[in-house]
Amino acid sequence: MTHPTQLQSYVGGRFVGTRRGATLASAVNGEPVAYVHEDSLDFGEVLDHAHRVGIPALLALDFQQRAARLKALAKYLVERKDALYAISAQTGATRADSWIDIEGGTGTLFAYSSLGSNELPSGNLVHEGPAMPLSKTGGFAGTHILVPRRGAAVHINAFNFPIWGALEKFAPSFLAGMPCIVKPATATSYLTEAMVRLCVESGLLPEGSLQLVIGSTGDLLDRVRGQDVVTFTGSADTAAKLRTRPNLVLNSVPFNAEADSLNCAILSDDVLPDDPEFDLFVKEVAREMTVKAGQKCTAIRRAIVPRRHLAAVTERLSARLAKVVVGDPSVDGVTMGALASRDQQRDVAERVAQLAHGNQIVWGGGAGFAPRGTGADQGAFFAPTLLLCEHPGMDAAAHDIEAFGPVSTLLPYDDFDGALALAERGRGSLVGTLVTHDPARAAYGVARLAALHGRLLVLDRDAAPESTGHGSPLPLLKHGGPGRAGGGEELGGLRAVKHYLQRAAVQGSPTMLAAVTGEHVRGAAVRESSVHPFRHHFEDLRVGDSLLTHRRTVSEADIVAFGGLSGDYFYMHFDEIAAKASVFGKRIAHGYFVLSAAAGLFVSPGEGPVLANYGLDTLRFVKPVGIGDTIRARLTCKRKIDRNKLGADGRGQGVVAWDVEVTNQDGELVASYDILTLVAKRG
Ligand code: NDP
Repeated sequence: MTHPTQLQSYVGGRFVGTRRGATLASAVNGEPVAYVHEDSLDFGEVLDHAHRVGIPALLALDFQQRAARLKALAKYLVERKDALYAISAQTGATRADSWIDIEGGTGTLFAYSSLGSNELPSGNLVHEGPAMPLSKTGGFAGTHILVPRRGAAVHINAFNFPIWGALEKFAPSFLAGMPCIVKPATATSYLTEAMVRLCVESGLLPEGSLQLVIGSTGDLLDRVRGQDVVTFTGSADTAAKLRTRPNLVLNSVPFNAEADSLNCAILSDDVLPDDPEFDLFVKEVAREMTVKAGQKCTAIRRAIVPRRHLAAVTERLSARLAKVVVGDPSVDGVTMGALASRDQQRDVAERVAQLAHGNQIVWGGGAGFAPRGTGADQGAFFAPTLLLCEHPGMDAAAHDIEAFGPVSTLLPYDDFDGALALAERGRGSLVGTLVTHDPARAAYGVARLAALHGRLLVLDRDAAPESTGHGSPLPLLKHGGPGRAGGGEELGGLRAVKHYLQRAAVQGSPTMLAAVTGEHVRGAAVRESSVHPFRHHFEDLRVGDSLLTHRRTVSEADIVAFGGLSGDYFYMHFDEIAAKASVFGKRIAHGYFVLSAAAGLFVSPGEGPVLANYGLDTLRFVKPVGIGDTIRARLTCKRKIDRNKLGADGRGQGVVAWDVEVTNQDGELVASYDILTLVAKRG
C-alpha cells in the first residue's frame, strides 16, 4: 500500500491546502488513496488571478504559439504517463480503461495542437470570411471576426475521466486564449491533481492559464461574469441546478452541459443471425457494458433488437458477458475493473433495482458475484448486468433511469419505425449506433435519429475493422447531445475552439476591414511596388502587396495546344456546332487553361523565396473566356501565417495565401481563387 497523499488545489500560482479533509478510497480495495483539503479557497482571488494574470499571459502568445505549447505539453505528459497509469489503477480502471483516459487526453492535446497549427492564423483574431459587399459600388462591406473572450473558463468535470475530461476541455479553451479553472469530481480528483502537477512542473503553461480546485467550488459560480464560460460534465440533475444559478442567468454566462444520457444501439431488422452484423452488434453492446465498468457517458444503455431475434441476441450477449472476469485490474486475467467509488456502487445497485421493477434480469444482477483480488470485497465492483424490458413501448423505466455502470437493457421491437420511436424515448442522447448493412436503412434511420443524437455510428462489416467504436468521442467529431444529454457541444475540431471565442460582425470600407482582419479584402487599397511580390521574403512581404500583370489575348491555337497537352477535348472547347448550341453560344477556353495562363502572367520565374505552391482554395470560374478575349491577373498577398516551422533545409518558412483575380478586357472577373504557398524567411 502506498502512503495516502494530501491533495492540494493549484490557485494563484501555488499549491495550497494542508488541512486534511475527507478520505478518498481506492476503488479496488477500499484503502485510503488521498485526502482532500479542508482549507477553503478565496474564489474572488482565483478568478482575479485568471483574469489579471492568465489572460495577458495567454494573449502574449498567439494561436500558433499556443498550439506549439499544447504539443510540447502532450509530449511532456506522454513521457511521464507511467506515473499516471499507476495512480489511475486506484480508480478501478484496467490498463485499457486508463489508456482511454490518459492517452485519450494527451491525444486530444496533440489533435488540438495540429488543428491550431494548420487551421488558425498567426495573431489572436480569426477572420471568419469571406467579407461581403454591402453596397452597390463595393465601398461598404461586412464580415465576421472571432476574438478571445477575455474571460476565464470554469470546467467542472465528472469522476469517470479524470484526465481526458480535464484535457478535452482545456485544449480548445487554452488554444482560444482562455485561462482555465478546472474542478474535477472529488472521487477521482487525485488523478487530475497528479496530472496538473505535471503540467505545472513542465513550465510550459503561462502563469494563470491553468488553476485546479480540489473539493467545492464555493461561490465561484456566483462570481463569474459575462465574458467567462462554465462547462459541466456530470448528472442531468446537477446540470439543471447549476445552469439556473441566478448569477449565470443574469450575466448570460455561457453554460455548456454534457449530462448522462440513455444512449442506444439498434440492431436493424435487415440483419439475420448468420450475418456478420449480428455479432458486431452483440460485441459492441458487451464492450460498451464492460469498458470502464460501463462508466461512460456514451455507453449503450438501451439495446434495441428485433423481437424475432431477441432470444438469439440474449443468448450470444450472455455468452460474451460470461467471459468477463471482474476484479483488481492488477490480477492476471481480469478484464473488467471496479466502479469509481462505493458511493457509485450503491447508486448503481439502487438504479438496477429500479430498472428491475417490472423488468427481468437476464444476466448478472449480483448473485454469486465474486470479484478477484485481495480486499476486493472492500472494492467498488459490480457484476455486468443485462435486463430485458418486454414491452418498451409501455414501460418507461429503461428510457428514464440511467445506471452508470456495467448495465444495459434489451428492448425488443416489432418494426423498424418502432425501433426509431424507442430510440427517441431517450429524449436526447450523446450517441446512437445503427447496425445495418443496408444503405437505404442507414439513410432512413440516421436522418430521423440525428434530431435526437449528438453522434451516430452506422456499423457494418465494412466499417467494423477500423471503427473507433460507439463509445469513443473523437477530437474531430462533435461530442454532446440534445435534451437529456445536456444540450451542449464539445470537441468537433475547430468548433470547440470557436465556443471559447467571441464572434462579432464588422462593417466598414474594404480597406478598414482589411486592416481589422489582417487579411486582404477585395476592394481594399493595395500596394503596388516595383519589386515582384514573389521576390520578397516572408518577413518583408506585407498583406496588400500586389501585382497587376500584363495582358494576354487567348487564341484558338491556345485552346488546341492545351487540349493536346491535357487530353481534354470536351465539346465546349472543340466542337463549333455543339458549343454554339450551348449556354455560352461559342467555343470557350478550358478553365484550367485560364488558371495556367494566369500563372504564366503573374509568376516570377527566377529562383526566389517562394518555395512551393501547395494548393488552391475557393476556385470559381465566374465567366467564360472565348477566343479573342484578353485576360490579365491581379495577384495580392492575402494572408500570412507564421507556423514557426523550419523547412527541410533548416531555414524558417511561413504560409502565404495570395488572392488572384483574373479579369477580361472589360474588367469583368473571369476566375477567382486563392493560391497557397510556402515562402522562405530571410533568417
Ligand atoms: P454530479 O453531477 O454530482 O457531479 C459532477 C461534477 O459536478 C463533479 O465535479 C461535482 O463535484 C460537481 N458538482 C456537484 N454539485 C456541484 C455544485 N453545486 N457546484 C459546483 N459543482 C458541483 O455527478 P457525479 O459525478 O456524482 O455522478 C453522478 C451521475 O452523473 C452518475 O451516476 C451518472 O449518472 C452521471 N454522470 C454522467 C457523466 C457524463 O459524462 N455525462 C459522467 C459521470 C457521471 P463533486 O464531485 O465534488 O461533488
